[in-house]
Amino acid sequence: MTQYPAGRARAEIDLGALRANVRTLRACSPGAQLMAVVKADAYGHGAVPCARAAQEAGAAWIGTATPHEALALRAAGIGGPMMCWLWTPGGPWREAIEADIDVSVSGTWALREVVEAARGAGLTARIQLKADTGLGRNGCQPADWPELVHAALAAPEVTVTGLWSHLACADEPGHPSIAAQLSVFQEMTAFAEKAGITPEVRHIANSPATLTLPESHFDLVRTGIAMYGISPAPELGTARELGLRPVMTLSASVALAKQVPAGHGVSYGHHYVTKSETTLGLVPLGYADGIPRHASGRGPVLVGGKVRTAAGRIAMDQFVVDLEGDRVEPGDRAVLFGPGDHGEPTAEDWARAADTIGYEIVTRIGSRVPRVYV
Ligand code: PLP
Repeated sequence: MTQYPAGRARAEIDLGALRANVRTLRACSPGAQLMAVVKADAYGHGAVPCARAAQEAGAAWIGTATPHEALALRAAGIGGPMMCWLWTPGGPWREAIEADIDVSVSGTWALREVVEAARGAGLTARIQLKADTGLGRNGCQPADWPELVHAALAAPEVTVTGLWSHLACADEPGHPSIAAQLSVFQEMTAFAEKAGITPEVRHIANSPATLTLPESHFDLVRTGIAMYGISPAPELGTARELGLRPVMTLSASVALAKQVPAGHGVSYGHHYVTKSETTLGLVPLGYADGIPRHASGRGPVLVGGKVRTAAGRIAMDQFVVDLEGDRVEPGDRAVLFGPGDHGEPTAEDWARAADTIGYEIVTRIGSRVPRVYV
């Protein structure tokens, strides 16, 4: 992939903040191990450095969606317990088994493929059985669970290391599905254990559950968004209120500052028109970099000592701010989001401006923006 220099824009990744967040999350779940979820390039923060930093702060496990993500981490030298959960037929299961990566299995069709891969490798595969306790995504339905459990027990090519599930509404405290899913999970794990499975770990909690639902922690919590210092949902409070520190700071160098008269249309569609003579500043980041076009006219940016909003449409590579006559020079820094310590907006502010979630804001920051580790 093309490596871009940091002159135009950069995403600073504060690994100290990530380590502090891991420690905070571990303190929230004292009886459980922590799995650092580093899928999707660690939500845009860079999987290898984030996995390493999380391990330094005590994360016992690393979790990814795809086996390819997990294999890339192994190739980069990341050791220790690792799991991937996004099953697709014909995936690199033999390579995953050889790399000692736990593979999630949601049904007997997947089990058959892992058994074959394990035979090919001449190794015992570590598998974790995924229960659909109510999310309605992947996972084994309760009605099919006995068949899967017995099939796994009957296959000498596999050892069941984990029993796990995923919550649908953990970010809505008090939602009735939470208690219902926990109860189904308990029944399904109890059945498997009675049948003879002795899992190393049982797990169902994501970040919001780690922060708010101790009864969901079991042996392991899987934390993604909170580790990156972003609140899972506004209802749970801001990152600061949750004791978390944002890890990514996204900034750009102002590319141009120029005088324009009153009545000047700005960007495609002329959705912003200057009210009086003013100065426009060009921020060289756009939707190709992951800046949501939906936040046109609303996305906040700290530039020239004030938070201003994107004037007019956010384009593919750039957007404009109205500097209202304030003195800003090309090369001055425009901070889109960061921890908020110096008055800059946060990723949570961008999520609000774009009618989305903080997860999407950081995960979509594109490869043209170099990650700089601080
Ligand atoms: N577990 C699974 C299976 C996931 O898919 C995810 C992310 O979506 C997580 C854990 C981490 O969730 P969060 O980022 O809310 O901590």
